[in-house]
Amino acid sequence: MLDAQFFRRWMTATAASVDREAERLTALDSPIGDADHGSNLQRGFRAVRAALDKEEPGTPGAVLTLAGRQLISTVGGASGPLYGTLLRRTGKALGDGAEVGEDDLARALRAGVDAVMALGGAAPGDKTMIDALVPAVDALGDGFAAARAAAEEGAVATTPLRARKGRASYLGERSVGHQDPGATSAALLIAALGEAGDE
Ligand code: ADP
Ligand code: MG
Ligand code: MG
Repeated sequence: MLDAQFFRRWMTATAASVDREAERLTALDSPIGDADHGSNLQRGFRAVRAALDKEEPGTPGAVLTLAGRQLISTVGGASGPLYGTLLRRTGKALGDGAEVGEDDLARALRAGVDAVMALGGAAPGDKTMIDALVPAVDALGDGFAAARAAAEEGAVATTPLRARKGRASYLGERSVGHQDPGATSAALLIAALGEAGDE
């Protein structure tokens, strides 16, 4: 079973990974965006870390809804409301129990990803974070390592795609040949699940 501590570790592992990879995320956002994805998420996940320390939410659902609220209120870019919605909706779907199973997490994360698609209007193949999140959720039943591999594969597979949503879509055909920054950060988020489980 996964308790609030597990979800805290998931968020702090994501924050650490975003710190490590911020420059790379911003570099990916340079040719097909406005070169701020790394700094956007860094600001957001630092706020998440600070809020978790201050408020000490006691259930899995409360950890994720607090994290989602922080991302929405601190990240100016498109990714803030999208990741914020992902975590808030996932947290809400987890309910208010003290522990949840991995199958509960898989179901809740699917609800979260559905909410991101409803909010942003992106479908798989549009060259967004959805291209990493959907395969990850599909693979989550096979464990965290499988979800991580699927997310990383999905992120890499955005390179030949033409962007149909977000800032990169303004470039049309010129968005082809670049890996999507949001799909890359989504793979970091999913990879951090494995780190949270290891401790
Ligand atoms: P901004 O584009 O406002 O500067 P960021 O650079 O932080 O925001 O985030 C860009 C990422 O957000 C993109 O790489 C893409 O993965 C994701 N994104 C943008 N628009 C959408 C959308 N409508 N649906 C899903 N993801 C999106
Ligand atoms: Mg940007
Ligand atoms: Mg921006």
